[in-house]
Amino acid sequence: MNEFSVIDQYFKRQALSREDVVYGIGDDAACVRVPAGMDLFISTDTLVSDVHFSSDWDPFDIAYKAVMVNVSDITAMAANPAWLSLALSMPTSDESWLKRFSKGLHKALGVFGISLIGGDTTQGPLTITISIHGLAPVGQGVRRKGAKASDIIWVSGDLGGAALALSSLKPNNIAKKDMSILLEKLKHPTPKVNLVPILQTYATSAIDISDGLAQDLNHICIASQVAARLSLQSIPLHPLLTKYQADKAIELALHGGDDYELCFTTPAESLDAFRQACAKSNVTCHPIGIMEDGRGLLGVDKDDKTIKIAPKGYQHFQA
Ligand code: ADP
Ligand code: MG
Repeated sequence: MNEFSVIDQYFKRQALSREDVVYGIGDDAACVRVPAGMDLFISTDTLVSDVHFSSDWDPFDIAYKAVMVNVSDITAMAANPAWLSLALSMPTSDESWLKRFSKGLHKALGVFGISLIGGDTTQGPLTITISIHGLAPVGQGVRRKGAKASDIIWVSGDLGGAALALSSLKPNNIAKKDMSILLEKLKHPTPKVNLVPILQTYATSAIDISDGLAQDLNHICIASQVAARLSLQSIPLHPLLTKYQADKAIELALHGGDDYELCFTTPAESLDAFRQACAKSNVTCHPIGIMEDGRGLLGVDKDDKTIKIAPKGYQHFQA
C-alpha cells in the first residue's frame, strides 16, 4: 500500500468528526474553530519503539496507549481533549499491522470524542508522534506553577501498577490473571478526564505523573517554589503491588512511571467543596500530603519519621 491509500483507508475514512472541525484530513493543514471564550492547549508526545512500548505489542495497544498518553497531558492542564494529529513513521505499510493500529487509534479517540484532524505518514523506524489539542474556558487552565504552602496534595488513583507490570515482564511468579490486570493497566491507561472541570474550579497546580510521582511532583515544587511533605502511608498503592512486591511497593509507587494518574494541589479552605464536587462526579482522589515552605520532597513514614525523598523517576539521556 502506498502512503496515500494508507492515509485514506486507515486514518481519513474512520476519523470521527466534530462540529468545530472546519476541515480535517486531506488538505495541507487542518482548520478548527476554537469556540469563543475558550483557550486552546497544545501538547505533543512521541512514543518510540522499544523505549515506550515493545515492538511485539499488539499494534492496537500501541495506538491506544499513544492516544491516552497525550490525553493525560491535556487533562493535567485542566483542558478537555478535542483534536489530534498523528505523525506515524513505520518500517513497512503492513496491512495487518495497520488494521490493528488504526482500530486501537479510533477506539481510543472514541472514548473521549477526539477528532483525528491530520498527520504525516513516513517510512522509517517505528515512531508515533501525536499532537493533541484541548479546550478550557479562558483563564481556567492549571499549571505546574501555582501551588502554595498549606495546599493539600492529591493523586487521582492508585500507583505502581504499571511499574509492577514493567518490572515483571520477565518470567516471574505473578499469576496469569493478575498479570493480565497489570498489562491492561500498562497498555490501556484511562486518564481521569472527568476531573477536568473540578481541576478548573479547585486546583492550584497539576501535573500528570507519567514519569513517577516523586519526579513529577518535584516539578510542581520547583515551578511553585514550595516543598512537598508526603504521608507515605497515604499513597494509594495498586492492590497487586502490595500482593507481589510489598517490600518495594512504596519505592515503585514513588519512582515508577507509566500510571497516567494526575497529581494536583487544592487550597485547604476548599477541602469540603472539593470533596463534594468529586463525590458528585463520582471520582475518587487521594490526599497524600501537604505543601510547605522550602524546596524538595519529604516523606513521613509509619513511625512518624521524616525522610528525604529523591526526586528520581524516568528520564531519557540518563547517564
Ligand atoms: P503533505 O504532502 O502536504 O505533507 P500528506 O500527503 O502528508 O500531505 O498528507 C495528506 C493529508 O493526510 C494531510 O491532510 C495530512 O494531515 C493527512 N495525514 C497524513 N498522514 C496522516 C496520519 N497518519 N493520520 C492522519 N492524517 C494524516
Ligand atoms: Mg506530509
